[in-house]
Amino acid sequence: MRIKKEINFSKNLFWATITLLAISLAFSLLFQTGKAPLELSISDLVTRINKGEAEKITIRGNDLFIDLKNEERAVAKKESEAGLTETLNNYGVNSAALQSVNLEVKEPGGWRFWAEILIPTLLPLIIIGAMFWFIFSQAKAGAGQAFSFGKSNLKMFGAFKDRLTFKDVAGLKEAKQELEEVVDFLKNPKKFLEMGARIPRGVLLMGPPGTGKTLLARAVAGEANVPFFHISASEFVEMFVGVGAARTRDAFQTARKAAPSILFVDEIDAVGRERGAGLGGGHDEREQTLNQILVEMDGFERDTNVIVLAATNRPDILDRALLRPGRFDRRVILDLPDIKDREEILKIHSKEKPLGKDVDLRKVAVRTPGFSGADLANLMNESAILAARHNRKLVSQDDLYSSVEKVLLGPERKGRVITQKEKEITAYHEAGHALVAASLKDADPVHKVSIVSRGRAGGYTLKLPTEELHLRSRTQFLTDIAVALGGYVAEKMVFGDMSTGASSDLKEASRVARALVTQFGMSEKLGPQTFGETQELVFLGKEISHERNYSESVAAKIDEEVKVFIDHAYDLTKKIISSRRQVLKAIASALMEKETLEQEDFNKIVGGFKLKPLGI
Ligand code: ADP
Ligand code: MG
Ligand code: ZN
Repeated sequence: MRIKKEINFSKNLFWATITLLAISLAFSLLFQTGKAPLELSISDLVTRINKGEAEKITIRGNDLFIDLKNEERAVAKKESEAGLTETLNNYGVNSAALQSVNLEVKEPGGWRFWAEILIPTLLPLIIIGAMFWFIFSQAKAGAGQAFSFGKSNLKMFGAFKDRLTFKDVAGLKEAKQELEEVVDFLKNPKKFLEMGARIPRGVLLMGPPGTGKTLLARAVAGEANVPFFHISASEFVEMFVGVGAARTRDAFQTARKAAPSILFVDEIDAVGRERGAGLGGGHDEREQTLNQILVEMDGFERDTNVIVLAATNRPDILDRALLRPGRFDRRVILDLPDIKDREEILKIHSKEKPLGKDVDLRKVAVRTPGFSGADLANLMNESAILAARHNRKLVSQDDLYSSVEKVLLGPERKGRVITQKEKEITAYHEAGHALVAASLKDADPVHKVSIVSRGRAGGYTLKLPTEELHLRSRTQFLTDIAVALGGYVAEKMVFGDMSTGASSDLKEASRVARALVTQFGMSEKLGPQTFGETQELVFLGKEISHERNYSESVAAKIDEEVKVFIDHAYDLTKKIISSRRQVLKAIASALMEKETLEQEDFNKIVGGFKLKPLGI
């Protein structure tokens, strides 16, 4: 911001100088036609008249302007008391010669006269004055900047332009129902006030990133047809202490002036964290900002028709004071979309995209569990880009599938050179995952196996749950661990060696096993307990400190139990792969030949072997 100001300033100065130079040039052209005039004394003038060189003399007060016959011009001055003829006579002018000169007397005055006197003296003053004016006005703007930190930078979305309504938000049925009420408050406050009800002040929208919190808030404003003010709480927090509070005041004031209106505070967790939990500098500032928000909300009159919507994806860390009645006492939860909602979101985002006849959005929805609305919007966009890149006029189902994988795993890297040996190792590795998944009763079905490198993965096996699950059982976790170990075991058995390709699988397996023991209480030995307090450090937002609240001996037991889980899964995986080597080989050769196997191809290969599903 500062830098931009300075660039603007030097740009202005540059143009000011250019303009002034141009003006003075214009003036000098106007008043100095040709060379500067000769200055003559009276006696010189008399000599010239006597020689017959003068053609015309213009008298203006005491100034004489002489046009000479050789086209030159001259100026002279006479004494002020005497007339011209008299003066010339005194200097001995030849009266015959004088008679041939055209004498013209002009009033001293006229704009030209004054201009000739004033401009040479005033122009420099004007230029200097203008310079000063520019410099001062710039400095003033700069100073104004420094003092406008307390302004809130409110972004207002006209309620009328780009108006969004609930129709633009797919799914989220319960959330919409809750917010319907807010719309009603904004539209007919009287109805509620007459019943003695207090209009709610704050509604907290909670949900994972990308689930449409911002979108829904705008839709509420659109439905009620009121102005929508948007501010992100992270913008409140600035370098200077007190700025956040000042901005908060300003934001609320603006919204109140425009009432009925909606003030949307995005990412409120940035300031609304439990107070006193801060580490490092600047948490005072957050507290002040938070306090100011509370003060402003308490200060609403009973009939103030401003509703504060706030969004967060971390409701667990919010300060309790924010959630008290009279503040953000209404909470609306936005969940990740289920299959039906995903289809609808895809439909909304495919509105302006020409879809091919083969496109079945339902099938895309099946492949995208765990995707947020934002992910789905991104997916739709990627597939349109893909179609355009291949100069196709319509988006095809394959474009959509490719985009699912791109969003999940990063772009395909077909260009990556791999040796035949690497290709073989990758094929067996992925075949290992796929075979274990196909062998276990509780594993998610395999949707795709590929040895085309993607993002950082060498290859991948895409398994998707058949239904949306909100709870996972111990059996499923153990199955996950076994499937994750499938690649490692296959490599080890086939090549007698292990590669680095398995490292992320092993990490995942260990993570799941440890969570089973320490978080889900699924270990027989340690029983229903959780271990370790994961603390979140302010500003980093990620779990970075893991506090141990158990003894060394318990730590050793945890490690033992983790090993029990891993070993169990490992043995099972070994058993599956060693007893089904032909199946592994069939999958791996098909992969080396085709690189990617879709669900049907895969099922055909495995189906030939009539595998008996195994339990964990
Ligand atoms: P959040 O604020 O929860 O992080 P946003 O509201 O910014 O998420 O959503 C990001 C984008 O994702 C939206 O602009 C919209 O395109 C898309 N989106 C998310 N949820 C939905 C939904 N339910 N219906 C339609 N589009 C959605
Ligand atoms: Mg948002
Ligand atoms: Zn793997």
